[in-house]
Formats: sequence, structure tokens, C-alpha cells
Amino acid sequence: MSRRLLLCGVLLLALTVVLPTATGGAHPGEAHSLAEPGAIGGKGVFSNLAGARQARAATALTRFATTRQAPAPAGPCTEAATKSMPLGAGHRHDDIASHAFACRMQQVAYVPLTEQLKDRPNVILGEMDVKADIAAIEITYPQAGVLFFDVSDPAQPKFLSRYNATECDQLLEDINCGAFVDLAPDGKTAYLSIQKLTILPTLPLNPNALNQAGPGVDVIDLANPRKPVRTQFYPILGLGGVHTVRSHTIPAGPSGPGRPRAAGEYVISNQNGIGIDIAKVTKIAGKRILTTVRNLLSRDLTATIVNNEVHDTFIQNDPLDGRTYLYNAAGFSTGFSVYDITDPSRFKQVAEWDLTPECEDDWYAHTIDVTHRDGRRYVTMPAEMLLLVDKKTPTGLAEMSAEDQAAGCGTFVGNGDKPGPLWIVDATDFSKLGPANDRKTPSEAQATDATLKKASQDALVATWTNPAGRAGGSLTFSPHNQQIVGDKIYLSHYHGGVYVLDASAAFAGRRERPKELGFIVPHDKRTRPLLGQPPLTGLLGRFFTDFPLGRPEIWDMVVHRGHVLAADMTGGLYTLKYDDSPLPLCADATRPRAALSRKRSRLRADRILLHGSASDRGCSAAAATRSRRGAVSKVSVAVARVAGTRCRFVSARGRLGKPRACSKPVYLRAKGTKRWRLQLKGSFPAGTYRIAIRARDGAGNRERAKTATLRLSGRSVDKTDA
Ligand SMILES: [Zn+2]
Repeated sequence: MSRRLLLCGVLLLALTVVLPTATGGAHPGEAHSLAEPGAIGGKGVFSNLAGARQARAATALTRFATTRQAPAPAGPCTEAATKSMPLGAGHRHDDIASHAFACRMQQVAYVPLTEQLKDRPNVILGEMDVKADIAAIEITYPQAGVLFFDVSDPAQPKFLSRYNATECDQLLEDINCGAFVDLAPDGKTAYLSIQKLTILPTLPLNPNALNQAGPGVDVIDLANPRKPVRTQFYPILGLGGVHTVRSHTIPAGPSGPGRPRAAGEYVISNQNGIGIDIAKVTKIAGKRILTTVRNLLSRDLTATIVNNEVHDTFIQNDPLDGRTYLYNAAGFSTGFSVYDITDPSRFKQVAEWDLTPECEDDWYAHTIDVTHRDGRRYVTMPAEMLLLVDKKTPTGLAEMSAEDQAAGCGTFVGNGDKPGPLWIVDATDFSKLGPANDRKTPSEAQATDATLKKASQDALVATWTNPAGRAGGSLTFSPHNQQIVGDKIYLSHYHGGVYVLDASAAFAGRRERPKELGFIVPHDKRTRPLLGQPPLTGLLGRFFTDFPLGRPEIWDMVVHRGHVLAADMTGGLYTLKYDDSPLPLCADATRPRAALSRKRSRLRADRILLHGSASDRGCSAAAATRSRRGAVSKVSVAVARVAGTRCRFVSARGRLGKPRACSKPVYLRAKGTKRWRLQLKGSFPAGTYRIAIRARDGAGNRERAKTATLRLSGRSVDKTDA
């Protein structure tokens, strides 16, 4: 979640130009004003993007698309998803009843949290984590905290406790002070990252925020999950605190010269605007204590992972080479960078990826998840698209410099007028990603930009954007957090809800957009009040216009025990389920075909033996159906001795019936389908026999009968055509 980190990072200084939006757009033609009671919905800055500009934004999305990406086969929910992100003058984002959209996903349970949050009913929920059947849901603003649930049965989440931390610096800015929550692998410790400008208590002091904390990490002991206790405050230097914190265990394994290793449990935190802090975890009497491995405070400054923008990290013990890699989604400054941190005190940057190194503020690299298939390593990364307020510009939005606009970086800082992409990158060979230019001087970086861009384009496998073509706006429809489970990517999408994407093609290396298997915009009517945003909140007011004031706003979700746990920033905790049942079969309209084998058929005075074959094509899968294999279910055969212009049909017992119209055959069922036979025993006079055959398939399609004539003369079969 970037928006308020921005305050702490690169854009901290830019804040001086960010003015309150409480009075809404002051520009002719922009029909919005947040000062109007309830004027949220389809109004606000975003409404200005709903028309032609939005359409242009959608077409401009090719700027981020994968080159040579195959036309995407639609998924079962692609079509429905095009209608699930409503927008326009008549639409209100704060009316949950206007957001009942779902396709192959359903709500299993909902905890409205009205009881648990009754003393602070309008807080905003944020990041989530689930370990050892404990779910942690962070309260991000205007107070930091964590809600703990027992999710051993995710269909019935049980509330355990609430941890209250510090107040946000509301007088200064609407910063999200509870920025990220992570659980230790055993679920017995929680880490809450605190974004805060100072270590001083914040006014207005709320008695429910028992632990006044400064920028850093609250270490919360969960030995008794009904009674969370802060056992340590771990201060971290950063511009406004810590945005994300993650625990990770580096396993024992081979090490040697050039491949150092320091096994153990660590906690990795983002020092906003500075780099990455790594702390060693020691357990004393069962309680976890953090001590710094390296950060800016240590003597060896060069041993700090310096990256002027760090948004989120992903740490993985790599199955390909056994090393432990830290992937950094680096906000505005670059796409992502990768570090080998198998020995955290002797880390090494191994890769960088950035599609648009020539642009400074075009999109915001947000989160990373990595998976491996058939010896290949795939990185997934959504980018947030946002719009920032700047009333000095004609549009009222922060605009890019003329140079950046001329370079094709877009019009607005954050490209919130474009749909947000989720990229899938083949990172099997780190050396084939771009040359890392993050720590070089600007001119050196510029010199390698073209190489970095080319390598990044080559490594890009696929790009997904929402099928509605909705621009991110003020994060309203921006992609957010993702989780890879098998060949599926689960993605939280703020006001767009939760998506389940089929990425099997991309994970097989094919340049094919993931398709929509399911989605839901959770819409339980039991809601909490929206966070009041009085004009002139804080010294600087709102950073965004209408965010997070929609219902719902899904910040994060976690797949757990076959369910999806999703916290609504302005609502409660949902348990959702993706409907994995088979899709309906495609509509098979093709008739089967049967044929008589003259060669293998025999007509004799005492026996008629007919052989033949039959086939059926079935149908192939469409967006919302699965393929149906061809299947002949039945072959019918009518055998008649021709008597003048009429026919005497042979019964199953081998008797010739009375003469009747040849067009009214008496069918008998043949044995078999693909290969069929019909044997009739009786006493058959010589003459011309007329054979009618027709097949039927599993979908009920019936072939039009076709006929052949055979002659029975003496003891041999004489073959002629009809
Ligand atoms: Zn809406």
C-alpha cells in the first residue's frame, strides 16, 4: 500500500505542493466537491476520467503491455468482469448495494466488526497475514492496531483479540501509521510496522491507543492470542517510519567462498526512503527479540541495502539454487530489484527489472510474489496507479514534468488515468534482467536505461489489466496485493474486489494474458461508518480525493485452507470461496456420422451381418465452457427388403414385416458405437436390401439417416450403390 508511504518517501518534500482537497475541484467543468455531504460516489476527481479521457487511458495501456502478447482467450468471468467496476455520474462508490458483483466466487462468512470496533467504528483496515491458523488484520488509520482471529475453520472465523498501538500523526498528515502486519512462522509473534514521523506521542491522544510508538516495529507476543502484549519496540530510522515488515527463516545449507550463509530467523523491514533493515531474531524465554544485523545505524554504511525507494519485499529460499533472495518492489524509483541475502550481513544485488527506467513517477511497483515451474522462476508484480492532488495545476492533479510527458511517461504522476497492470516476469536467469542502475549516479543510470528497458521487455511474459479497462484513479480501481496458489493468482483490487486469475499459460512461459476465473466485489450490507474526512484534516489535508471512501475497498486477502480471507478497509472480515466446480460443457451442435462398411458386411439367406463405424466431433471450450469430447451414444440401423416401391423391414428376430413406406423405417439398435455391428438371423429371400443407418451423440444430436442398398443373390453378396 503505497499512498501514504509516499508521504514518507520521495514525495515527502513534494507535500509542500499538495494542498487540501476538501473543497473539491476548483476547476471549471469538474463537477465534484468532497465538501458536499456524501459527495463521493461517481463524483470526485475520478469522475472526470469517466468519459473520453478514460477511453483514451484504456487505449494507452499498451504502453505497459507485453510485446507480442497473444490475444487473450477469455475466461469464464471475463465478460462479467467488464461490468463489475461501475463508474459515472449516477454511481455512488459508497453505496454497497450498488456493488453486488460476483462470478464463480461467493461469500461464506462475514464478521462486520461493529462489536469489536465499537469504540472506534470508522477505522480503516489494511494488511493481513495468516500463519498457524491465526489471522492478523491490521488497523491502519487513524490508529495503528491489529485484530487477531482464529481461522482454523475459515468458514467460521473466531475473533480472538485486538491490539492497540499508536495514533497517527493526524495533525500533520493522514499517514497510515499501522502500515503492515506479519506473523512469525509459528503464529506466536506478530510484527506491526509503524509509520510515524516522530517518537513523540501523537495528538489527539486516544486512550485506546495504549502503546504510543515511534517509527519502527512493534513486536507483539501472542503466547496467549487472546491477550497480545508488546514485548519490544524496535526503532528503525526511516523517513516517516517503516512501511512493511516480514519475518523469514534462512535455512542451513551449503556455503563457501562467494556464497556466504548465515542461517536463522530474521525480520526484514523497509526503512522508508532509505533502504532495508534486517534484524536477527533471538528467542529468550520463548519471546522473540530483534537485534540489528545491519542498517544505517551500523558503522558500515555500505552494508545497508540502500534503495531510495522500498515499498514491499518478498523473501524466498530459492528452489533453483538454494540461495535466499529478497525481492524489493521499489515504488516509483524502479520496478523491482533482487538481492541475495543468504548472509544478511553480506547481501549482494543480483538483478533489477524496470520497464520504464526513463520515467520517474509513472507507476508504483507495489508487491511481489514469486513461483517456480519446470526449472523457471516467475516474478509477479502489480503496479499501483494513482492520482495525487495538486491544486496548482490546471487539472488539480499532480502532473508530470514536461520532460517526462515528452518522453511518453504519461500525463499524471502515478498514471492514475490508466488501468493498473499486473506483470509476470521470467526471472530464471538474473543476469539476463537489467543491469542494476539503482545506486549509480543519475547520469550513469541514464546510460544504462536503454539496456535495462530492453532486458526488462524481453523478460516480460504477460500483462494483466482489469477487463473493464478502468483506470486506477485515486487507487479506486488499482490492483493491489497478490498471492500465487498453484497456477492461480489471487489479487485484491480495492473497489474492484478480489480476482482469481488463471496464469497457467504465463507460468508455462507463453506470452498470454492471465484470464479471469472468478471475482467478487464483497458487498455485505452490515457496514461500519465511513471514516469522517472533515475539511482540513491535518495541516495538509487529504492526499487523495475519494479514497478510501468506497464500499468495499479490499486492501488485502489471504488464501487459507481453500478459502479466501479478505478484509474490507471500510467494512469487516469476509470469508470468500472460489467456485472450483467444472465449467458447463460447451454446446455441441455438430451431428455425429455413421458409415456402413460394405467390405465387412455380409448378406446371406440365413444371416445378415452389417458392420460399420461412427464418429462424433464434440465441441471445444469457449470462455465459460469446457470442451466436450465427441461421443457416439447409439447407432441405429434399419434393414429392409425392397418390395416394389415399398419396404419390408426386418425385425430384431429376423422376420420380414408387412410392406410399408420405405420412408418409415423400423430401426434396430446396433451393438457398439465407434465400431458397430448388427447381426440378424432368419430366412431372407434373394433381392435388393435397403440399409438405413443413423447415429446419435452424447449431446443428443441425431444424424439424418443415410441409406445404402445391398443385393442378396444366391449365397453371395452383390454390392451396388443406392
Ligand atoms: Zn463503486
